[in-house]
Amino acid sequence: MSLKFRIALALALVAALVGVVSAGGAYISTERQVARNVDELLLARARGALSRPERGRNDGDNDDDDDGDDDGLRCPLTVVLQPVAAVQLLASDGSVTPCLDGAITLPVGADDLRLAGAPVGSYVLRTVRTEDDRYRMLSISGQHQTVLQVARDLDEAEGVLDGLRTRLILLALAGIALAAAAGWLIARRIVRPVTDLRDAAETIARTQDLTTPVPGSGQGEVGSLATSFTTMVTALSTSRAQQQRLIADASHEMRTPLTSLRTNIELLEHYDRLGADDRRDTLAAVQVDVGELTNLLTELVELATDRAGDDEPVEPIDLEAITSEIAARAARRSGRDIRVVVDAEPVAVEGRARMIERAITNLVENAVKYSGTGPIDVGLRATGVEVRDEGPGIPEADLPHVFERFYRATTARTAPGSGLGLAIVHQTIERHGGSSWARNRPGQGAAVGFDLPPVPPSA
Ligand code: ATP
Ligand code: MG
Repeated sequence: MSLKFRIALALALVAALVGVVSAGGAYISTERQVARNVDELLLARARGALSRPERGRNDGDNDDDDDGDDDGLRCPLTVVLQPVAAVQLLASDGSVTPCLDGAITLPVGADDLRLAGAPVGSYVLRTVRTEDDRYRMLSISGQHQTVLQVARDLDEAEGVLDGLRTRLILLALAGIALAAAAGWLIARRIVRPVTDLRDAAETIARTQDLTTPVPGSGQGEVGSLATSFTTMVTALSTSRAQQQRLIADASHEMRTPLTSLRTNIELLEHYDRLGADDRRDTLAAVQVDVGELTNLLTELVELATDRAGDDEPVEPIDLEAITSEIAARAARRSGRDIRVVVDAEPVAVEGRARMIERAITNLVENAVKYSGTGPIDVGLRATGVEVRDEGPGIPEADLPHVFERFYRATTARTAPGSGLGLAIVHQTIERHGGSSWARNRPGQGAAVGFDLPPVPPSA
């Protein structure tokens, strides 16, 4: 069911509820008022009749009654009781004297009979039903232990109420229809920005064009939905741009070892003509190239998927052993003075050894690459490592960015590299729950390092 339809339906339902409640209320209160009017009219007329001198329709038939005979069974002047449907007199013995020609005979109940001895003016009101009509009947006690019974046909009142009911139902239906129509219009206004947004999303999905303009702005939920959508599209296009840069840089980075590999393989084509030393050197160079390519691939996969290393077990890490090995290897390769210094007493840490090793290697390689010829200290911290050099340091403006993928300080762009090393360090350490930093040392040189979270003492 569409949102538009649901909003219109909800409005129509609310209108129906309001309509039913108010029309029902109006009907019930009118019905009560009409009933009260009938009762009041009956009472007023009956009391009026009782207070008149007793002359009635029997006057003509019974002339001797005029002399003031007091047998008590005289019908009142029925004209006073108009408009009534039936009038009768009830004696204490239960006998009934009808007072209106052709009128129905009203039922006599125990309550009516009891009125025969009651004080004048006591009355009972009730609704009685004949075969095809309903009457409101009043029994009121008169003098001489008689009871005057008068009734009024409820037809007229019911007719009025029927008319009212029909009009109220029609009004309520019209209100519901109006509310539904208004609801539909309002819903269209509300839903349009959402459908526009959906269309934009579908266009983007179809064309893969992340520059497609996103409609809708402003305040309210729909506005913020549009803003979130724009943010998402921007994030997506940033991520796509990064991926494209990753691919571009990756191919660029791979070119150097690949060219070297090709040259070495071409050399090996003349294997027979090479001396034993040359053979060995060339094969070693091929191995280095393949190693570099493998490393680059691993790094790229690690960065691109954010999942590499998941299969590596988390185990206690001996930072000192790993660091010493890396320092020795880097010193051997670069001929630089690389020392391992203990900054603090080690505390137990754990993690994925190969990932941590790669992170430390990246830090040491950077120091080697960017610090000229000075000595390099690899500081062993309680739960981490900090590599300090005596090179030119990192320009202050670049400091906040060096952990970003592909970021390279302007001063470093002549050196080989792709700006992935520190991004890998940052990602690795973050995944281990630790923190990494880069700073310039007060004297000279850069200090880049990380801390892992200490392993909580086991219970
Ligand atoms: P890659 O490591 O991917 O081969 P890279 O070394 O340029 O390339 P990162 O290791 O991420 O990339 O370093 C980012 C930038 O930080 C470097 O380009 C350099 O400008 C700066 N930087 C890092 N370490 C140092 C350092 N010890 N001294 C001076 N600048 C550094
Ligand atoms: Mg680097």
